[in-house]
Amino acid sequence: MTSEFDVIVVGGGAAGIGAVRRLVDSGASCLLLEASQRLGCVSACNFDPVRRGIGVQF
Ligand SMILES: Cc1cc2nc3c(=O)[nH]c(=O)nc-3n(C[C@H](O)[C@H](O)[C@H](O)COP(=O)(O)OP(=O)(O)OC[C@H]3O[C@@H](n4cnc5c(N)ncnc54)[C@H](O)[C@@H]3O)c2cc1C
Repeated sequence: MTSEFDVIVVGGGAAGIGAVRRLVDSGASCLLLEASQRLGCVSACNFDPVRRGIGVQF
């Protein structure tokens, strides 16, 4: 793995994932740093929108 990147993005939520996608598409090398075990933050959570009345729908 390289240790040099054009851009380092902190946070793998929707904004971070979208930023990295655009940067990579434009030819930049990126490192995405995410504090949790999975990308997406609240938009990837396991809330049950029916039973708990909370959740994310896109
Ligand atoms: C209950 C709930 C329901 C929602 N429902 C909808 C919906 O139906 N439709 C909709 O369009 N939007 C919805 N939203 C809003 C949507 O989820 C947010 O707008 C979106 O997640 C914001 O994305 P973000 O990347 O800015 O932030 P986040 O999703 O919060 O991502 C930030 C990321 O940065 C990481 N991070 C933070 N600090 C560090 C650090 N120091 N180092 C490394 N990583 C770090 C976090 O772990 C996280 O993964 C909802 C939000 C909530 C809370």
